Amino acid sequence: MATVLKAAPISQQIVEDLTKQCSLLKNNGCIPCLKVILVGAHPPSVIYTRNKKKFMEDIGAECEIIALEEDVSEDTFLSTLQTYAKDSSVNGLFVQLPLPKHLSHIDVGQMVPPEKDVDGFHAQNLYKLMAGDKGERALLPCTPKGVITMLKYAGVNLEGKSVAVIGRSLIVGKPLSLLMINYNATVTMCHSRTSDLKKITKSADIIVAAIGKAKFINSEYLRESGDQILIDVGINHDEFGNLCGDIDQSDVEDKCALITPVPGGVGKMTIVSLGQNLIAATKIQMEK
Ligand code: NDP
Repeated sequence: MATVLKAAPISQQIVEDLTKQCSLLKNNGCIPCLKVILVGAHPPSVIYTRNKKKFMEDIGAECEIIALEEDVSEDTFLSTLQTYAKDSSVNGLFVQLPLPKHLSHIDVGQMVPPEKDVDGFHAQNLYKLMAGDKGERALLPCTPKGVITMLKYAGVNLEGKSVAVIGRSLIVGKPLSLLMINYNATVTMCHSRTSDLKKITKSADIIVAAIGKAKFINSEYLRESGDQILIDVGINHDEFGNLCGDIDQSDVEDKCALITPVPGGVGKMTIVSLGQNLIAATKIQMEK
């Protein structure tokens, strides 16, 4: 039976640490402050922003959700974003995606100053990641950062490991692949046009599924030895409406060494990473 690597104990440890760091920052006259711009009332976005606000408040930071109407004009949206980008009392800023169609052409990642970019999508932060940074200077994208935090907690050393990352999105697959390379793993980035995916996943020490297809990865993608580590990034619903990942957990649980669950795995770590980025961003701004 595989070890199930749950986020809860990891999150608890980090929350304690972030709470202490927040309190130290407060003693130095700065309460970390996050502004989240939410356009419209897309139900998952409302839940995500609410969860992020609660997490920030739990660690002692301030978090305000700036709710704009679904049909807000482009001018109003941009001027709101610019106001908080310039406001020196705001330490972290991001726009909850997706944006409504009439705003979706805006590259919001580039409009948030890099030192407030708690999502880690500004070109300067992504460049640092490309240049080999493991988070020493860059604010890293939250989900990839959360995956690395989980692996470190489990004592998995990435050096020399072969990793198959399935999915090449800008928010998960690509930055996670780069980050793992920075930890000296050998990464094969797979996508919908990859030929013979099973051959690649069977030869990998670690498989990361970031596909967006419920239970796509099953035991047919694993080798017989049962020594592989499976990271499930997916957040989907199965045919009964239950939350599930990209990995068919019940099919693989006795055929791998370690697996992250859904729910209670990588998803929870994404918010934790956001909290870590807010504290890091606040410190960067205080040093300036
Ligand atoms: P995208 O839809 O942006 O990307 C999906 C990727 O999967 C694409 O690169 C696509 O390839 C690839 N893919 C699709 N079908 C196949 C296939 N048959 N074989 C191999 N690769 C395939 O998704 P995201 O990266 O945004 O999200 C992926 C999943 O992770 C979703 O379930 C999402 O909800 C979840 N997620 C979870 C987060 C968390 O906090 N845990 C955070 C963000 C996302 P191609 O590029 O060729 O189309």
